[in-house]
Amino acid sequence: MAEDVREVLIVGSGPAGLTAAIYAGRAGFRPIVLEGALAAGGALMTTTEVENFPGFPEGIQGPDLMANLRAQAEKFGAELVTDDAVTLDVTGPVKVATDSDGKEYRAKAAILAMGSAYRRLGLADEDRLAGHGVSWCATCDGFFFRGKNVAVVGGGDSALEEATFLTRFAASVTVIHRRDEFRASKIMVDRALANPKISVRWNAVVTGIQGDRAATALELKDTVTGEASVLPVDGVFIAIGHEPRNELVRGQVDVDAAGYVRVADPGTATNVAGVFACGDLVDHTYRQAITAAASGCRAALDAQWFLSDHA
Ligand code: NAP
Repeated sequence: MAEDVREVLIVGSGPAGLTAAIYAGRAGFRPIVLEGALAAGGALMTTTEVENFPGFPEGIQGPDLMANLRAQAEKFGAELVTDDAVTLDVTGPVKVATDSDGKEYRAKAAILAMGSAYRRLGLADEDRLAGHGVSWCATCDGFFFRGKNVAVVGGGDSALEEATFLTRFAASVTVIHRRDEFRASKIMVDRALANPKISVRWNAVVTGIQGDRAATALELKDTVTGEASVLPVDGVFIAIGHEPRNELVRGQVDVDAAGYVRVADPGTATNVAGVFACGDLVDHTYRQAITAAASGCRAALDAQWFLSDHA
């Protein structure tokens, strides 16, 4: 059995997972990376220009940055598996992942880098009309709403960033927020409110999305008066935060109240020996490509030290 047990298994292939793979590869570990079937590369695959990743003064497209990181990881011996980890058992001394064919991957140390997913409103209409007027990514889909009327749900920085971005295409953008005050930073609020295409619907939640083949209107409820109303729109962008993707390790490693994996910050060790976590799976604050990459580096070094202590 010893022969098929590797040193390091990495789950996730955003900047955190691939940076961990680069470091673990350069340490001579031949890490195996379960990079995901559809979501390989993580959130940056649906981003256009990345202007704030150090080292690229002219900016770089998100998918190009991820292709570079992937190539760099492979160059140092990382083996990338383009499939999802369907199960992951990290409780024993040998960590075991299975892919969608049931193939097992075993290692003495596991690095969790599953990232986070867009939070959903939890409406049946949301699933029914996803990709047909309902979107979670203005950068990906904003282009399709040229000259249209759209809404953005949420009151944080993401919502106002999306709303401001959408004014490049849309005729009007209505921000729908459940309270009467934004959570977003002042600079984002000021920028959005100064934009003549943006208006705000305060104290409102979306209770339904109308439309057969594509969204045509939002059903709203006033959170103060309880009054129901209908807002005609051609599209709605949901920007109400993210959920850490902890499904694979729920019940195995400690998570906080919001579901983020707890680590011994500034280290990346979880409460389970040989299990390290990094990137957006542990970080609800910074959520940047560079901070994710940095924590992937720390996770690989922590795994390396763990392995040398347990050789
Ligand atoms: P966030 O700060 O958690 O904001 C989520 C927003 O969605 C809140 O306004 C929240 O309302 C609302 N919300 C949550 N669940 C809801 C539901 N079920 N129905 C209706 N509304 C709901 O998330 P975020 O905006 O994605 O930002 C995440 C982090 O990234 C933050 O630290 C943020 O500063 C950062 N970020 C920064 C930038 C930037 O600086 N350029 C851009 C994007 C994100 P309440 O306010 O009532 O809770």
